Amino acid sequence: MESAFNTILRYINPLAQLGKRSYSYRFPLFLSVVVAVLLEIYSNRILNDPDAVGMYAIFLFIALIIYFSFRDGVRGGFITTVITLSYYIYIIVSRNYTGEQLVRGVETVLLLGVVYFVLAATIGWLKQMIDRLIEREVDEKRWLQAIIQQLPVGVVITDKDGKITHVNRQIETLLGIKIPIGSRISHQSLLKLGKQGKPEASSQNPLEKVLTTGRAIISHEFQIVRQNGKKVSLQVSASPIHNKAGKVIAAAEIIHDITSQKELEARKDDFVNMASHELKTPLTSMKLYVDSLALRLKQANDDKAVKTLENIKHQTDRLQELVNDLLDVSRIQTGKLTFTKMKFRVDELLKEIVEELQASAKQKLVITHSPAISLFADRFRMYQVITNLITNAMKYSPGEKDILIRVKREKGNAVLSVEDFGIGIAKEQQQKIFDKLYQVTDDNEKTFPGFGMGLYITKQIITHHRGSIRVVSEKGKGSTFYVSLPLPKKSV
Ligand code: ADP
Repeated sequence: MESAFNTILRYINPLAQLGKRSYSYRFPLFLSVVVAVLLEIYSNRILNDPDAVGMYAIFLFIALIIYFSFRDGVRGGFITTVITLSYYIYIIVSRNYTGEQLVRGVETVLLLGVVYFVLAATIGWLKQMIDRLIEREVDEKRWLQAIIQQLPVGVVITDKDGKITHVNRQIETLLGIKIPIGSRISHQSLLKLGKQGKPEASSQNPLEKVLTTGRAIISHEFQIVRQNGKKVSLQVSASPIHNKAGKVIAAAEIIHDITSQKELEARKDDFVNMASHELKTPLTSMKLYVDSLALRLKQANDDKAVKTLENIKHQTDRLQELVNDLLDVSRIQTGKLTFTKMKFRVDELLKEIVEELQASAKQKLVITHSPAISLFADRFRMYQVITNLITNAMKYSPGEKDILIRVKREKGNAVLSVEDFGIGIAKEQQQKIFDKLYQVTDDNEKTFPGFGMGLYITKQIITHHRGSIRVVSEKGKGSTFYVSLPLPKKSV
């Protein structure tokens, strides 16, 4: 009963017909005829005055024309107008008007005819325009929905208040839960993406964060435990959607399953770790054998063999450095890089390293400035950092221009710099060189040997010491690397 009433209400309510574009002609035709017949009966039978309908008819039919133009577009308005005018003509004819009365009647019909047609055309046209706009918007929504459903990543879209408006099947597979449209993100605990799959704090929810800060979140990684107990790694990006005026009107989140990628990475890290450990032992023995053989050959005065052995030793040293770098990368990856901090003079360490490296450098290594500065840090790791920066400067400046090294105090920090006048680094690559295994190549052609581990390890060591590293460089002109490390509270 209730639903039948609702159906009738929806049928006669013009607002409920908005956007439908199914224009009826039967309903306007039927109702206008019924109204005309009822008016006739009312005036002739009840009032007994055939002329009494005039004013009623004008207003009643204007209301009908407006109603049907708005309900059924131009078609509805025109049909009602035609019935109305026919009824007026019927009145003139059936009342046997003559003379002045007839002329006035015809004039009124003509005038009203024009007014009714203009009214029906204008309102009908407006209604059809509104329908078309609504339809276009609905189509766009359907379009968006279809695309979202097809995406191979999980997608959640919310309105500005955090109510979910779109969600695709993929997200439900990823998270292992159902997310109802219209629910609030703050109530969706799994969307909060705590590190262990449990919500940590409400600010953990990337979408909520985006809506409150208005700033995008790019590629954050999370680990969650699905309700079935399976652990998955997810990469989440979320961003606000702005309107033309720049106000946040919605937010979208994209979730990527990176579990297999993470597993592969972990396997690769394990392999690198294992391989470098396995390589380390035979290499150490090899070096000992080479040393003892060199001693014997020296005693036997075999200069040629000594030279060859020196080359072997040099290559073995390089191999050992490489294995050590691999081990360090692997230790960083697993959080096992250890530090033993002590107080030492960095200016003295600098001198020591420069003396050691000068022997194999074709450039002159010049310390331009080095006052006495003490650091509280891991001396061996600092040795590694400085050596890496100077050997890079040597490697990437093929000319013979000096390499300038300095250390100074600056606002509670020791700032160490290594400047070369070599090949330089293009702007767009200056941030990437500190990434793991990143190497600058010319059109993917490798021109210098190396694995891109040095600066990555360097940066990790410096970050661990709460310091920072940056580079100032211009391609073709040279580079200066600056390392800044906090000085101990009472520095020498
Ligand atoms: P590697 O030198 O083993 O390739 P690094 O991590 O030490 O690895 O350096 C990463 C990249 O940064 C290098 O491939 C090189 O292109 C660039 N780079 C580092 N130092 C310099 C420098 N002083 N001048 C020019 N390019 C440099």
